[in-house]
Amino acid sequence: MHYGVEGEWPGVGFPADGLLDRTGSLDAAPLASEDGQADLFSAVFWMASRMEEFLPDAPRDGHGRFDPTGSLPELRGWLDSPICEQWAWTIGERLLGNAWPEHRNRLRAEHAVVPTLDVDSAYAFRGKGLVRTGGAWARDVFRGQWVQAVRRLRAAAGQGQDPYDTYGQVEEAHRSRGLTTQWFFLLAAFGSYDRGLPASSLALADLMKRLDDTEGHSVGWHPGYAAASDAKKMAAECQSYRDIMGRPPVASRQHYLRMVLSETRRQLFALGVREDHTEGHAVRTGWRGGFARPRRWYDLERETLTDLVLVPFAAMDATYLRYLCTPASEVPARVGALAHEAKKWGAPLRLLWHNESLSGEGQWAGWEDVYTQTLDAACR
Ligand SMILES: [Zn+2]
Repeated sequence: MHYGVEGEWPGVGFPADGLLDRTGSLDAAPLASEDGQADLFSAVFWMASRMEEFLPDAPRDGHGRFDPTGSLPELRGWLDSPICEQWAWTIGERLLGNAWPEHRNRLRAEHAVVPTLDVDSAYAFRGKGLVRTGGAWARDVFRGQWVQAVRRLRAAAGQGQDPYDTYGQVEEAHRSRGLTTQWFFLLAAFGSYDRGLPASSLALADLMKRLDDTEGHSVGWHPGYAAASDAKKMAAECQSYRDIMGRPPVASRQHYLRMVLSETRRQLFALGVREDHTEGHAVRTGWRGGFARPRRWYDLERETLTDLVLVPFAAMDATYLRYLCTPASEVPARVGALAHEAKKWGAPLRLLWHNESLSGEGQWAGWEDVYTQTLDAACR
């Protein structure tokens, strides 16, 4: 093959638009077109490096996250498919010719549904310590929420079911469908957006170790909201994970999907993390970086291909609830449509759910069965 070479040459030729020859500059858009005439290599790089998110005027939300609303990938419909994999198929077809169909079939067979769950608060009532439990109980009483007050005390005392203790349901849902599970546990110090159990909680440590020992389950780290922009907090949380699990975390996902451009990922890597599962948007579903398959992270600011692997997800329960305001009954079909798209390209469909949404408590009322129905729709 030849790339960006003028004139008549034997073999397969691909046009080059020059993006891949440059370093240190940011383009607001690639020149890709779907007829294969434009430079698909640079389109893949533009989309997967998330170049648009580094532009000085890139829109960000209140949490500092890139806001994809009205972005080029959204307007062109690129988020609704693993678009880079689609472009790679166009390249593969031209390169491999007659050998392509066999290779394509091999790729198609790689499709899988991979559920992952973030645990922001392992228990609603248990293990939160005397001060927080006492304060919350006093608040229940003050507001006249007697049922809640009794439930809190019973659960804190280890009696009765804690609402967020949905682990057994998840284990059964996955076991019966032959699915493996990755959990990500928050170990952050208490703060406005970090409201989980203290990392010193024995109930939390027991749960993490028990799940990690369960066949088909692995437990990773969920770095806190504040830690995303505070290296000291990040290191302290990592140490908490090591103390509990007896090993450094290999896989992590940022709480609130919050990160400071390249900085957070560099810190994660320095702390031993080798897989970052944060890629995906909070406000909409789809494939943020154009890939559903894991890929090595390219540090655009340093123009370096790193050994940190990005593992993208395509759909999160909180996206449907908070941002898309999708009725719970419609969620399974929406995820089913994403699964259908992933299947076309033999790509994995990773889901991001929360132990809390299975509880059907509070804002999650009506969501009790959505998870199992969603798995059925995705696995169909
Ligand atoms: Zn979280």
